[in-house]
Amino acid sequence: MDVERLLKAVATPEKIRAFQRPLLRWLRRYGRNLPWRRTRDPYAILVSEFMLQQTQVATVIPYYDEWLRRFPDFASLARASENDVLRAWQGLGYYARARNLHATAKAVVHRRRGRFPRSIEQMQKLPGIGKYTAHAVASFAFNQSVPIVEANTARVLTRLFNLRKAIDSVAGRTTLWEHAASLLSKSNARIYNSALMDLGALVCIPRKPNCGICPVKKFCLAKNPKTLPVRKSRPRTTRLVEKHAFVVRQGKILLEQSSKRWRGMWILPPLKLDGLKPSNSQQRPLYTSVFPFTHHRATLQVFRHGAQEITNEQRRWFRIRSLDSVPIPSPHLRAITDLLGVPRLRGPGVRTPQSAG
Ligand code: SF4
Repeated sequence: MDVERLLKAVATPEKIRAFQRPLLRWLRRYGRNLPWRRTRDPYAILVSEFMLQQTQVATVIPYYDEWLRRFPDFASLARASENDVLRAWQGLGYYARARNLHATAKAVVHRRRGRFPRSIEQMQKLPGIGKYTAHAVASFAFNQSVPIVEANTARVLTRLFNLRKAIDSVAGRTTLWEHAASLLSKSNARIYNSALMDLGALVCIPRKPNCGICPVKKFCLAKNPKTLPVRKSRPRTTRLVEKHAFVVRQGKILLEQSSKRWRGMWILPPLKLDGLKPSNSQQRPLYTSVFPFTHHRATLQVFRHGAQEITNEQRRWFRIRSLDSVPIPSPHLRAITDLLGVPRLRGPGVRTPQSAG
């Protein structure tokens, strides 16, 4: 019998309790005091889960607080314009999350009379809610006895079970969810799942797990935890150069509404489109920066340009002093604030280094 089958066979309620007891004791003493842990409101928990995808906790906290102040419930978010939603998300990056959260709020208000479903199956019918998010809300808002597998719990579980399958493969993911379920008890999923996440965030960390202080060390099967989890080889990073125009006149700046990566947000007009090209005398960029997004490393180059361009449906002049209310992705916002020499435009938090702004 292999290790995985053996563990499944011995996961009796007594053994689960023996595993959970020191973990929960550790959580009471060292667990993180996170704002979304102080509520059972499915809306607030859903907001935190959307924000935490791809983004670190410290970055999310100020955005979460500000978001709940501006949009305290599904109804207020459903009423908001896309412009206001993207502006509130500005700096968190991966804006599809904001659009999906907005669409979910509208669906809850208009199709479900404002009531968020308790059923995982129903939750997964809402925009942007996959298995992990549905399980997280079911566990943290409704205390349903369901496992969760995200970056922190995945790392802990692969090490506890010495799982050598790639966790980004179908077989690896399936096994992880099975392991997560095998350690769950019926009554305290909310606390237990929080404990497993915090263990991954604070002790069972990526490169240097602190096994010496780990509350579940005696249950751990990892032979060489630093090498876990195993992942398939990552796609190579692609380098891009993106050229944009800096066009200002009479206290206004020309921006274009993106229909691609930053759909709905306002960016410096792309060059090489619609005849916009850097003139021969302006070949040297005024501003250059590098930013990552998914598997890309993009170099943003901004060139001064004349104001002869015609404003079309995608392009508009904005008063520079009103830019605070305009959703602009961080790489472009940094270029604009730098080139205009104005203090950093308002934003609730610090941009996450992994995000595309
Ligand atoms: S003993 Fe080490 S590898 Fe195992 S769960 Fe604890 S911190 Fe992680």
